[in-house]
Amino acid sequence: MPHIQQLDSHVADLIAAGEVVERPASVVKELMENAIDAGADKLTVEIQHGGMALIRVTDNGCGIAPEEAATAFLRHATSKLRTEYDLEAIGTLGFRGEALAAISAVSRVELLTRTQAHELGCALSLEGGVVVSQEEAGCPLGTTMVVQDLFYNTPARLKFMKKDSAEGAACFAMVQRVALSHPEVGVKFLRDGKQELLTPGDGQLKSALYAVLGRDMALGFTPVKGSGEDMSVTGFVSLPTCCRGSRGYQHFFVNGRYVKSRTMMAALEEAYANQKMVGKFPGCVLHLTTRLNAVDVNVHPTKQEVKFGSDKKVFDAVYYAVKSTLEADRTRPSAVAESPAPRLIPKQAVDTVTPNQTTLPLRDTAATRTAAPYVPPAVSRPAARPAAVSVP
Ligand code: ADP
Ligand code: MG
Repeated sequence: MPHIQQLDSHVADLIAAGEVVERPASVVKELMENAIDAGADKLTVEIQHGGMALIRVTDNGCGIAPEEAATAFLRHATSKLRTEYDLEAIGTLGFRGEALAAISAVSRVELLTRTQAHELGCALSLEGGVVVSQEEAGCPLGTTMVVQDLFYNTPARLKFMKKDSAEGAACFAMVQRVALSHPEVGVKFLRDGKQELLTPGDGQLKSALYAVLGRDMALGFTPVKGSGEDMSVTGFVSLPTCCRGSRGYQHFFVNGRYVKSRTMMAALEEAYANQKMVGKFPGCVLHLTTRLNAVDVNVHPTKQEVKFGSDKKVFDAVYYAVKSTLEADRTRPSAVAESPAPRLIPKQAVDTVTPNQTTLPLRDTAATRTAAPYVPPAVSRPAARPAAVSVP
């Protein structure tokens, strides 16, 4: 009979890291979310060799006090949650206190940070989760996190990494999503020294959409605005004539968090029934805003899946918002062309924008691999638009 023993903390940390840090794009996501939670309105993401060699995220957020810098890398260390009751209404992107512990367990990390209250900042280095140095350092307000040599100490994970180009593309897609989730944050992305994205951070989703998709593709989207019981839906959806061959352009956000939601996907596609060609899928950037306690975000380590208090309410809110937009557009086909294009970042500010950068490849999930018609979850199909939904 094998003996039962508790794992030592190093092995336990590596196992926990495996869930949170699947690939470089996971690091990009967690570091960007931390920057947004820190109140940054400008952030820069740089990657080298697909993020495997280096990921650097610089923000102008609140920074970390020197005496708390090392604590931030401990498991279950967070400033965003205090009691079990806080779990019921999470208003920040992070809350599990796991990301920095997980990332630092499988890489070499350098942190440079300063708060308003401190004249001098702090530089901290860790290797495999262990602090190797900490010293005072002059630096601007905010935080720079540098993650190098990802998975250098976990060869089992390293061998599953794809080519740099594929990992880099996944990082870029993640940056694009975060940029679309928070249009009030100006996001810059550099891959191997080349700038590939710059969003203005003017708070307009339309500006972020133009920056991410490019003008031509963005013109194939039309604005959506609607509300359901306790929730509102805003964003953009494809015109029926501009649907695509995959679901790679579908982006759903709940209270500012990118999520994979079968309910929202089903509602979106149902709204296009009979309006689009078979085998084509609508694209969208749809933001659902609801009460914090109407959604449980603590159901998955990467926080990309959420549980709604009522799937039906979410389905109805999305369905009617999209459907009424499409109906209005049918009688007003040039609606998008009529509305003024947002301020575009000057062309020279973006070094190279190739057509495939305008695609937003979703992670390789079952939902994106299959082009088979999507079977909606067990929510009743709405028969008529209820009075509760008001779409201006
Ligand atoms: P979580 O985000 O779930 O709290 P993390 O491990 O991602 O956990 O981060 C731990 C803590 O470190 C955060 O709660 C926050 O206080 C601090 N922190 C991390 N990144 C930043 C940042 N860019 N700016 C300011 N504080 C940060
Ligand atoms: Mg975090």
